[in-house]
Amino acid sequence: MSGRYDAIIIGAGHNGLVAAALLARKGRKVLVLEARDHVGGMLGDADFRVAPLPYALRPEIIRQLGLPPQLMGTSRPVETISFNPDGAPVTVLGGRASGVDADMAPAYATLHARLGRQAKALGVMMLQSPPGLGKASFSEMAGLARMALKMRLLGKTEMRDLLRIILSNAWDLLNDEIGDGPLAGCLAMDATLGGAMGPRSPGTVLTLLYRMASQSSHGHGLRVMPEGGPDALVKALRECVTDAGGVIRTGAPVAKILVDQDKAAGVRLQSGEEIAAATVLSNASPKITLMNLLGVEHLDGEFVRRSRNMATIGMVSRLDFDIAQMPSLGSGGEIEHGQRLVFAPTMQAIETAFNAAKYGNLPERPVFEATYDATAKRFCVTAQFTPHDLKGGWTDDAKEKLASSVMAALEEALPGLTSAVTTRRVMSPVDIETGYGASGGHWHHGELRVDQLLMLRPFDGAAQYRMPVKGLYLCGAGAHPGGDISGAPGFNAARAALRNGGH
Ligand SMILES: Cc1cc2nc3c(=O)[nH]c(=O)nc-3n(C[C@H](O)[C@H](O)[C@H](O)COP(=O)(O)OP(=O)(O)OC[C@H]3O[C@@H](n4cnc5c(N)ncnc54)[C@H](O)[C@@H]3O)c2cc1C
Repeated sequence: MSGRYDAIIIGAGHNGLVAAALLARKGRKVLVLEARDHVGGMLGDADFRVAPLPYALRPEIIRQLGLPPQLMGTSRPVETISFNPDGAPVTVLGGRASGVDADMAPAYATLHARLGRQAKALGVMMLQSPPGLGKASFSEMAGLARMALKMRLLGKTEMRDLLRIILSNAWDLLNDEIGDGPLAGCLAMDATLGGAMGPRSPGTVLTLLYRMASQSSHGHGLRVMPEGGPDALVKALRECVTDAGGVIRTGAPVAKILVDQDKAAGVRLQSGEEIAAATVLSNASPKITLMNLLGVEHLDGEFVRRSRNMATIGMVSRLDFDIAQMPSLGSGGEIEHGQRLVFAPTMQAIETAFNAAKYGNLPERPVFEATYDATAKRFCVTAQFTPHDLKGGWTDDAKEKLASSVMAALEEALPGLTSAVTTRRVMSPVDIETGYGASGGHWHHGELRVDQLLMLRPFDGAAQYRMPVKGLYLCGAGAHPGGDISGAPGFNAARAALRNGGH
């Protein structure tokens, strides 16, 4: 065996880096092994980035890791433009919506404020290890009690309202409060983006609240981009690990987690090199960690069954369109660098797109979010409801079909865009799965739905980061509280490892 470390982190996604940074700052000798040639996972680098809009890194993590405070966000919050095929787009900034009917703006402001308060109550659990079903530690129960108290502090009426809506669907809630249209479409996108669910699916109010809790964690209910964008975030995390003495190796795919007498003993790289450590944290998805890297021979039958059955059907693809120059909006005005655009004109459009995907087809009219990177002159599109298990497979023709339908939708809003495109690139959920070790190419490494949340994430019996093999932890998006660039699973997993004395 070469070298010996206190902890090895498999994968340098942002969660792996957060976990490594915390362990290294607590004096552990840490090694991060990343399969790709860059760190940051889906945050990627300037050449290729799966996740272009990192709004959600928790401020508590920024503070505790001593990261630059500028990562809390630029002074200018990000405005969303939601396209409207029947007129001027709707713009949304926190609780303010413009371009909507006069009576809808205050109704939306009220709804946003109410959901914001409820999301804040749920947000208490984001940096907590969820309690186990059956047995729970004092600190886990304290976390749950804090959430219950926050919910109680909402007042009787609002707490009842939260309990009434929490498991229901976004469609009913939004239809009741603001009616269908580009504003509801924009919110329903937040509720469903990355998941295999449409606005009518049960539990989509909860996923909306989750996203609000995650993205609005900076306290003012607005989306903010870290100063310097995703590159600054990746650089700060990498330096945080190395400044604390941690070692990062890229181009080092791990093939196996080594086990000795039911305890983690280190890892074997694909190259055959073996490295010893009594603690191993995996940033790969739970299924890949348990089924491929660890191996079923180390798990009992029921654990294997639950792990295999975890829902991991990825639904999102990344498309990059390099453009010679950005045309003006058909409705007037310009697209600004970093602005968020949503193409989901109604909740019905999202549901229709989901219906196609449910049966393994690409939607005729895709729904997507996009952002313009003026430095790279690139339109980055995240297209929803492009199923991993596409009928006929992800052939070049299928990718071409998706790119053409996205381009046709963009052209409606930005006339002249098609002729400005110089190159286009499509990354399907299958490409994301193979490229990043995320089962199903899933945004959250595994579906974020009521039976895979909190004490059931990633599945019953595996919710406290700690796996049945002593010293092995999950530290990626597949663990509580799930994906987005929040850093929370990595932070919580490292704390769980520290609590257990590093084992
Ligand atoms: C198309 C798409 C767009 C998205 N856009 C956004 C967005 O705009 N904003 C947002 O907040 N979230 C976005 N997300 C979600 C977000 O990217 C993920 O939730 C987040 O990246 C998860 O972070 P992570 O660190 O847990 O894992 P990842 O970012 O997936 O990183 C895991 C790392 O582990 C490495 N790894 C895996 N297996 C091994 C192995 N055997 N050996 C060594 N290394 C290994 C991988 O190479 C990778 O670097 C998007 C997701 C998708 C799919």
